[in-house]
Amino acid sequence: MAKTLDIVPVSEWGFFTLPRPMVIAGPCSAESEEQVMDTARDLAARGIHVFRAGIWKPRTHPGSFEGVGIPGLKWLKRVKEETGMKVCTEVASEKHVYECLKYGIDMVWMGARTSANPFLMQEIADALHDTDIPVLVKNPVNPDLDLWIGALERLNRAGVRKLGVIHRGFSTTENTPYRNAPGWQIAIELRTRYPELPFFADPSHMGGDRKYLLELSQRAMDLGLEGLMVESHCNPAVALSDAKQQLTPCDLLTLLESLLIREKDSGDKDYREGIDQLRAQIDIIDENLLYTLGSRMKVSQKIGAYKKTHNVAILQTGRWEQLLAGMKEKARGYGLSEQFVEDVFNAIHEESVRVQNVILEEGREA
Ligand code: PEP
Ligand code: MN
Repeated sequence: MAKTLDIVPVSEWGFFTLPRPMVIAGPCSAESEEQVMDTARDLAARGIHVFRAGIWKPRTHPGSFEGVGIPGLKWLKRVKEETGMKVCTEVASEKHVYECLKYGIDMVWMGARTSANPFLMQEIADALHDTDIPVLVKNPVNPDLDLWIGALERLNRAGVRKLGVIHRGFSTTENTPYRNAPGWQIAIELRTRYPELPFFADPSHMGGDRKYLLELSQRAMDLGLEGLMVESHCNPAVALSDAKQQLTPCDLLTLLESLLIREKDSGDKDYREGIDQLRAQIDIIDENLLYTLGSRMKVSQKIGAYKKTHNVAILQTGRWEQLLAGMKEKARGYGLSEQFVEDVFNAIHEESVRVQNVILEEGREA
């Protein structure tokens, strides 16, 4: 059972203006005072209120550009003073937290390599104890929902109540066009367990290339997520990190304007009546599905007992392959995809084998 988190609603942070999406934008890395100020001024002029820039950069190889460090915090302070934007950066150690607090950084986030590390998360949570700044936690690099939740729990226990998450996709060895596999089902699961958590998507690190930013941002909006964190640089071609995935402020605005934002819900009477009727139909169908599955498993039990009496092995792969092939052939006729039918029947088969095994084991220890 999911535990609840004690959080302050994002509407009370004083950071974001509605309607959706709430936007955080700025360069992957702060590189120079000029680059930071140029980007920030342009973004502010286009209505962006929250500015991001990495100061300490977690790079794969040593010797790559690893961020400008503390001088960058002074530039962020200047952004805040001159544009009125809120500013945020990534922290990966308690020292980073203390430096950010010293320079009046408004919000911090934990990167994917940090949220995967409970020792670091605890250290950072302890450093944030007694502060009031909002904290966003990116998903860990690996698709481990519990690790992500654990990071949130550590912060919350340390008293961080202005808490949110950023979904940036997962490292994968699978073949995907994206830099990080979106794994949206993990985001949906987290959203379902903690609907009160402000949820951002980071299409930049998910996509790895600016050509994917619009489709990924649209998907995030279609899923009802509240916000986007997007990398934006005044001159992406010469960026010292993540050049391929950054957008100019002008292109960012074009992207935001092309998003189709659907309402999360509607108070319209006709809509409510229509949706209630459809949901009532779904409830009945789901009940029937449960009944049918239960009946099928009872037959599986009988088969198990029958095989036991006749000393026949439970797993009959030939029979199963035949059955699955037949179902896949019929799939289209029922308006279902072959993949879906395969997934569902594999799950049913697994349970059926389990149920038959229980029968086989019965009485064995006696
Ligand atoms: C970043 O936001 O620049 C960054 C390093 O992201 P991630 O932790 O998602 O890789
Ligand atoms: Mn980056």
